Amino acid sequence: MQRASDSRTATTDSGSRPRVVVIGAGFGGLRAARGLSDVGVDVTLVDSNNFHTFQPLLYQVATAGLDSDDVCFPVRAIVRRRPAVTVRLGTVTAIDLQQRHVTIDHDHLLTYDYLVIAAGSVSTSFGIPGVDEHTFPLKTLNDALALRTHLLSLVEEVHASGGVEHDLGIVIVGGGPTGVEMAGGMRELLDKVLAKDFPHLHLDRVPITIVEAANRVLGAFKPKLSQRAERALARRNIRVEVGVGVASVEPHAVVLKDGRRLTGQTLVWAAGVTANPVAKMLGIELGRGGRIPVEADLSVLGYANVFAIGDIANALDPNGTSLPQVAQPAIQGGVHVAKQIAGRLAGQPGTPFAYHDKGSMATIGRNQAVAEFPRGLLLSGALGWGAWLGLHIVYLMGFRNRANVLVNWAWNYLTYDRGSRPIISIPTNVLKRSETR
Ligand SMILES: Cc1cc2nc3c(=O)[nH]c(=O)nc-3n(C[C@H](O)[C@H](O)[C@H](O)COP(=O)(O)OP(=O)(O)OC[C@H]3O[C@@H](n4cnc5c(N)ncnc54)[C@H](O)[C@@H]3O)c2cc1C
Repeated sequence: MQRASDSRTATTDSGSRPRVVVIGAGFGGLRAARGLSDVGVDVTLVDSNNFHTFQPLLYQVATAGLDSDDVCFPVRAIVRRRPAVTVRLGTVTAIDLQQRHVTIDHDHLLTYDYLVIAAGSVSTSFGIPGVDEHTFPLKTLNDALALRTHLLSLVEEVHASGGVEHDLGIVIVGGGPTGVEMAGGMRELLDKVLAKDFPHLHLDRVPITIVEAANRVLGAFKPKLSQRAERALARRNIRVEVGVGVASVEPHAVVLKDGRRLTGQTLVWAAGVTANPVAKMLGIELGRGGRIPVEADLSVLGYANVFAIGDIANALDPNGTSLPQVAQPAIQGGVHVAKQIAGRLAGQPGTPFAYHDKGSMATIGRNQAVAEFPRGLLLSGALGWGAWLGLHIVYLMGFRNRANVLVNWAWNYLTYDRGSRPIISIPTNVLKRSETR
């Protein structure tokens, strides 16, 4: 059997090396680009940002636990030692599947022999009135910085105007890992850090509420872990409203479907994502959540030379259920499509993608996390927290970031402080809304 790397002599009809365009330098796109860097193709990796974002720790930037550059890594540095990979900073604005080219920033064409679409997902309001105008999403670095700036400024405003802690109410919509982690992070920022700066404000009494439409938080976890998480939230004075949806959002209130209004000055939308609008550029019928339908080998239905991976793809497990929009399907998908392209060049047939679930975890705060691993292993409390810390460090990109995060976490743990608290003045229109939303 010919090995994938033997395909380095492969050429196109014009005699040049095959060109692969990878859209997105997220978890999936980076793995695909790395995997393709030594199989005899020229790879162009396109991203709107010059950095890769480690989204699982964005909530720590929003709650002043980490610096913004601890969770980002320059894309060019990641592929520096891979001469076959060229980075192109720019936003994909059109894709022509027939002509085989993508358009960057409306005016530059990149032709391809193979295309890998890994543009991720964007926050969605599900069409609920007021969400886009009055809530903070948490999907990009800009989102995290906007939320941090808002929170820190608000406490200053309440202090300056002689207000009280109840003027600072926080409502988080979405009881998945992002909502739960945000709530825990905000509680620690208020109680343990800002309370020392504003001793006359009783910041431990700031109401924090999580609203979740399902009947428990962390619905993707075993019910036992949801219960443990709810108990840990209650101990932190975080209220949980489950089994009720959101009807609309007003400037300072979330209106529930049962008619109740939860007021707050900080309204956070952590209720869900939909496929990145790049999916619509294909002009094909899309699947659940606007995701791109793919064959078993992750090629786009009807286009054997185009692959979609990660959050933007609607890859199915053997039971026909869509894979979750989390990091592992993207990472494993990236590795898989690189092998598929190398195999195609070597004249081999495609092979189906087999996703290996490595488990899920969410932290509620200091010494408290829930973790669920394959073969039924469940962890919670300090053990779960240890596993959460360790795995996030392992998956973080780059030695410098890992070292910084470790130092920051150790500092925060030992001193009950958080150093990343500058109130930055970036124009609201840049900060308030993420660029991809
Ligand atoms: C707050 C938060 C917390 C999360 N926590 C966890 C967690 O704890 N564990 C977990 O497994 N998963 C978590 N996730 C989900 C995980 O981050 C995603 O599933 C994962 O990032 C998907 O990888 P991807 O490669 O598909 O897309 P992404 O990693 O989102 O990468 C997409 C890339 O495409 C680029 N892009 C988008 N549009 C364009 C365009 N038009 N042109 C050029 N470039 C473009 C973006 O800039 C981005 O770099 C979290 C997500 C969020 C938002």
